[in-house]
Amino acid sequence: MDTNSDLSNKPSVEELVEKYANGEIKAYEIEKHVNPNKAAEIRLKGLEKKYNKRFDNLKVYSILPQNCGPNIENMIGAIQVPLGIAGPVKIKGEYSIGEFHIPLSTTEGTLVASVNRGCSVINKSGGAKVVILKSGQTRSVLFKSKSVIESKKFVDWVKENIDLLKKEAKAEERFIEIDDIETFILGTTVWLRLIANTNDAMGMNMVTIAGKRIGDYISENYSDIEFVSESGNMCIDKKPSALTMIKGRGKKVSAEVMIPNKVIEKYLKTTAEKLIDLNYRKNMLGSAMSGSLGYNAHFANIVAAMFLATGQDMAHTVDGSIGFTTIEKVDDGVLFGVTISSLQVGTVGGGTGVATQKECLDLLGVAGPGEPTGDNSKKLAEIVATAVLAGEISLLGAQAAKHLTRAHLKHNR
Ligand code: NAP
Repeated sequence: MDTNSDLSNKPSVEELVEKYANGEIKAYEIEKHVNPNKAAEIRLKGLEKKYNKRFDNLKVYSILPQNCGPNIENMIGAIQVPLGIAGPVKIKGEYSIGEFHIPLSTTEGTLVASVNRGCSVINKSGGAKVVILKSGQTRSVLFKSKSVIESKKFVDWVKENIDLLKKEAKAEERFIEIDDIETFILGTTVWLRLIANTNDAMGMNMVTIAGKRIGDYISENYSDIEFVSESGNMCIDKKPSALTMIKGRGKKVSAEVMIPNKVIEKYLKTTAEKLIDLNYRKNMLGSAMSGSLGYNAHFANIVAAMFLATGQDMAHTVDGSIGFTTIEKVDDGVLFGVTISSLQVGTVGGGTGVATQKECLDLLGVAGPGEPTGDNSKKLAEIVATAVLAGEISLLGAQAAKHLTRAHLKHNR
């Protein structure tokens, strides 16, 4: 596109910068005149002019605005968050077998070192075993009736027509299957909660589109109910929830490792008894007393750092923080496990196509759709769960050995 042409009567870059700085053109209107790469540059220059400041670092990046269309509006630059590597870690999962390096993007010093130490402990103990307990993306479609009697009648109708509704929700889409539709009633409010297999996509867009289709179909084919919204918070997305903790959502995953006493003593500088007691008092009692849904030390740290590196939706760190760390005594050591109720991961769609994030997915061998389809997202979920296990082992080990503050003072100040 010509950005400087007087002949075509198009404003020049300088004029656009001036206009944006003065508020005479809106941020999103700039693409009408220039391509997305130039538009990002113009918005940033406009801000520099308006505020009389320089943003020299915001303008240095390798991802092209023209390729970020589905991911951002009014782009001006990119935030750079350091990327570190932990591992490799040995995994024996259903979808991930072998050794994997773990990419972690964070500004929290000690996090990468801590996960790295956890990976060593896992390797010295023979590797982590991982299993996906459940896989299914959810969206709850919201309806309003005139009475609880009408709500019940509607739900009975839904149950009688469930196969038809599943088909309507899928329509012509290639990659979504509706596995189930759960129903909930509260007086005149009804939720239909779709549970969908979304293949290698994390699936929130796909299941939301399916929810809208069901809402529209019901509006046309059932007279005594009002379709209020395609999302009614019984999904429940990006909010802490007991429903998510109990039922799981996205991928519910467990990872475990049997750590021998000699490994605990040599590498974690503590004992099995101290680890078990700390887990009971901190992760069980402390979490219960504080009303937390995260019966763990720091799932969110590893989930956030891996999500950032691999292009997942960062707000799903909330969902990924829900779950349990369990430590049990076995003959010669402890069985150390994590169960994450909701890992919202995909290897296609969302931020997974952004060039830098795609390279991290590539490092893990999961960029793009898998073969057979749906396997790459499960493989990624198993790797994230193992990294979370490594993080829990290391942090609880440090706390049991009373080394935590020392490590933070050394690496994080
Ligand atoms: P999406 O990018 O909307 O859809 C997935 C795309 O990948 C589809 O175009 C699909 O092709 C394609 N695809 C190719 N191979 C595939 C495979 N093997 N499996 C699945 N899809 C495949 O992604 P999404 O995961 O549904 O949604 C993710 C986005 O939703 C994120 O950006 C997230 O931030 C956002 N989000 C949305 C909501 C919401 O309420 N809408 C809520 C939370 C987050 P086809 O076009 O042929 O199907």
